[in-house]
Amino acid sequence: MSHDERVSCQQAAEPSYAACTGCSETSCSSYLAAESPSPTANPSINTIGETIVVMSGKGGVGKSTMAVNIAISLHMAGYRVGLLDSDIHGPSIPTMLGVTDGRILESDGHFLPIDAQGLKVISIGFFLENRDDAVIWRGPVKAGVITQFMNDVLWGELDYLIVDSPPGTGDEPLSVCQAITGKAAAVIVTTPQKVADVDVRKSISFCRDIGIPIRGIIENMSGFVCPHCGEKTALFGSGGGKALADEFLLPFLGEVPIDPAIVVSGDTGKPFLDRYRDSVSARVLNKILEPLTTTS
Ligand code: ADP
Repeated sequence: MSHDERVSCQQAAEPSYAACTGCSETSCSSYLAAESPSPTANPSINTIGETIVVMSGKGGVGKSTMAVNIAISLHMAGYRVGLLDSDIHGPSIPTMLGVTDGRILESDGHFLPIDAQGLKVISIGFFLENRDDAVIWRGPVKAGVITQFMNDVLWGELDYLIVDSPPGTGDEPLSVCQAITGKAAAVIVTTPQKVADVDVRKSISFCRDIGIPIRGIIENMSGFVCPHCGEKTALFGSGGGKALADEFLLPFLGEVPIDPAIVVSGDTGKPFLDRYRDSVSARVLNKILEPLTTTS
């Protein structure tokens, strides 16, 4: 099956998927989904030192932003890094890395990641013909696509694979975590609001239930520092991430302030830690990510 045929099959909305269940093409993601995909990655084609899954209880908290900047900070520290955007409904990594025109090539039946800012990158966004397309798939199909992402990408040798996980604790993050072979860890991103608290608790339980160690909690969007007077306003409150980390005896990696430059870098495809490397917020973020780049 050619890449184009596979892509059009992957893009089919779920009702069309039902129409192609008779297809015997075993490399098709719909076939894989229907066949209860194996939860094991393919270690023969890849050597990955550690997979770090960036999780959040809900969307919009800055999970993708942190995933990109964790990947960039590891790359800047000299590591070979891959970044897998497994957020099927909101693949924002191509925009954040300035590769929205990226299209996936294949070699010997494996997807080849795109090179972006020194990272090897795969995103569902690269498979969509039109970036406004909505992905309408039921759970098993999504699980199959995610498992295929994890199994069939030719990463080669990586020190770190950073995975931008779908938000929450449902089927999709479970598929991500089940497909990891080798060393795995999670970083949980949250915001200071009380309503985020209950979701983070679920993410912590999720990781503990499936046996993935948590490298730490990051509290993002934690206060806004006025560029004129320097006064910090806790727009969404503060301290929630630290309190949870203390309660669950987890490392608290730190608080990332709200910074308009982070929005600009995400929207213009220039990773914040690279583009604004001398800014105060970049120094804060580098400090927060230090434990991830200096320990393994
Ligand atoms: P998620 O992956 O959790 O859905 P994103 O990383 O896509 O969240 O972030 C959502 C939006 O918030 C993006 O526009 C991003 O640039 C912005 N954002 C994330 N973190 C910050 C921050 N600390 N300061 C300002 N904007 C931020």
